[in-house]
Amino acid sequence: MNYRETFSSIYNVLSTLDNNGQTAQYIPELAQVDPEKFGVSLYTNTGELHSFGDAQEKFSIQSIVKVLSLALAYTKLSSKIWERVGVEPSGTPFNSLVQLEYEKGIPRNPFINAGAIVVADILISVLENPEEEFLTFIHSMIGDTSIEYNTSIAASEKSCAHRNLALVNLMKSFENIKNDIDRVMDFYFNICSICMTTDELAKVFSVLSNKGTSLVSEKEILTPRQTKRINAVMQTCGFYDESGEFAFKVGLPGKSGVGGGIVAVHPGEYSIAVWSPKLNKKGNSLLGSKFLEAFTTAVESSIF
Ligand code: GLN
Repeated sequence: MNYRETFSSIYNVLSTLDNNGQTAQYIPELAQVDPEKFGVSLYTNTGELHSFGDAQEKFSIQSIVKVLSLALAYTKLSSKIWERVGVEPSGTPFNSLVQLEYEKGIPRNPFINAGAIVVADILISVLENPEEEFLTFIHSMIGDTSIEYNTSIAASEKSCAHRNLALVNLMKSFENIKNDIDRVMDFYFNICSICMTTDELAKVFSVLSNKGTSLVSEKEILTPRQTKRINAVMQTCGFYDESGEFAFKVGLPGKSGVGGGIVAVHPGEYSIAVWSPKLNKKGNSLLGSKFLEAFTTAVESSIF
């Protein structure tokens, strides 16, 4: 299969259509990213990397990191983690406050902001040097130490984090945040600021297409059972109140970020990462979603 040719022909069609999306306006550093960037990378379980466009350019992975922080916390806490955060789709925007009040500070799932903040709190409790150990965890998936935090993006998000601060304070009032709020939020902003290329993201997510073992570093990161569960949560919750539509149109478990990235995995087959910074109203990459829909349709490849 000539994936590069498939990527190029899908891109040529979709890039001529109107894209009325916008870069993430609420984080000043992300609002300024060149909206026309586009990259896609596919990493097969046979170890082939196929990429197209700006696939070697780093961008902020934002909420895609929530899959990696969940993975690390899950390896530390095992199923006890589900006492602090649920596994149900929220049907609400990623930064919504409404459910948290009547569900007593237990977030619906680890991929909405509230859930990822609880996971950040768990990691602060169990890791000695959270920032360092979290990067080491990612490096162990890709056998490469060049992946880093972006301090200006983290600071930019921190400067206008009103909703996230509301979420963490509400959860603290329900005693579902154990550590100092500022420390938890700094860690959360730091991990969201991590930058990767689509080539790197596709490789990192090979862990989830390969039953928990990285195809790049050959390290067992998760057990097959943990991998199955994380993929299930990506399928049902990875796109907030658009998770149903993503499953319907693309047919793969995946996760988006407001940096414009989306990663999806076909267990046993491949992982695919796409980047296009303009977001739709739900905060998911507009062209990225359309691209993945066209791709799984063209190659007739979905888990359903
Ligand atoms: N850091 C972003 C936030 O907390 C992540 C949101 C996202 O990517 N959906 O708002």
